[in-house]
Amino acid sequence: MKKQFAVMGLGGFGESVARELMRLGHEVLGVDIDENKANQLADHLTQTVIADATDDSALKEMDLHRFDATLVAIGENIEASILCTMHLKSLHAKEVWVKAITPTHHKIAEKLGADRIFHPEYEMGLRVAQTMAHPNMLDYIALGDNCFVIEVRPGEVLEDRPFSDLKIDPEKVRLLAIKHGNSVTFQPTPDYRLRRNDHLVLLGEEKALRHFTERL
Ligand code: ATP
Ligand code: ATP
Repeated sequence: MKKQFAVMGLGGFGESVARELMRLGHEVLGVDIDENKANQLADHLTQTVIADATDDSALKEMDLHRFDATLVAIGENIEASILCTMHLKSLHAKEVWVKAITPTHHKIAEKLGADRIFHPEYEMGLRVAQTMAHPNMLDYIALGDNCFVIEVRPGEVLEDRPFSDLKIDPEKVRLLAIKHGNSVTFQPTPDYRLRRNDHLVLLGEEKALRHFTERL
């Protein structure tokens, strides 16, 4: 189903969100105070508007309450981000998502009633650190309670061996799937033979996963 989104601030982050939403088949209104930024994206988004997103009368004209979600992607200028968030809430925008750049910014956005808050730089930093520390881990999702789903690339020693050779203790680590390029095999049987470039998708507690992947 086609949805309508608005993105306030078309910097690197706002632009990538806006373009991806378009690619996913939705309608996107992009707003930027900078004429060049708005014009650059005019042919790529459903609509672009040159406006100050801290100006509540300009926001009012956009009928943002009719949009499924509005993202405040103004980064550097925390004051502008806060003001914009505040106006969006009082204009009854449905879902207000905010990019925060500091913990204080996060707390203020939370108090103002932002529905979801992101810290792309901070979160990406954690992600990069995790993958630097565990080089055969390609991606992960933290589920909370110290549980993770991870994608790992096993070493070549495992090639053409049935995955039962991995001696996974199902009480501690679950093999959810095997990924090969874009194809995914759910819950492979124990006789599945690992191929070059197969990735394992595993679920478990951090310690058990680390213990297990160190052997790969
Ligand atoms: P990013 O971190 O996303 O790469 P950036 O560093 O290029 O962004 P930011 O200062 O974070 O820039 O601002 C993101 C965008 O928000 C810029 O394109 C900027 O012109 C725009 N912007 C800043 N203030 C306002 C405002 N009051 N109203 C609308 N847009 C604004
Ligand atoms: P929460 O309110 O989500 O329970 P918390 O109380 O554990 O978080 P705080 O230290 O209050 O965390 O920070 C608020 C949010 O800011 C956290 O969600 C954290 O991810 C994020 N955060 C912490 N340090 C930074 C940073 N340097 N830059 C950006 N965001 C950060």
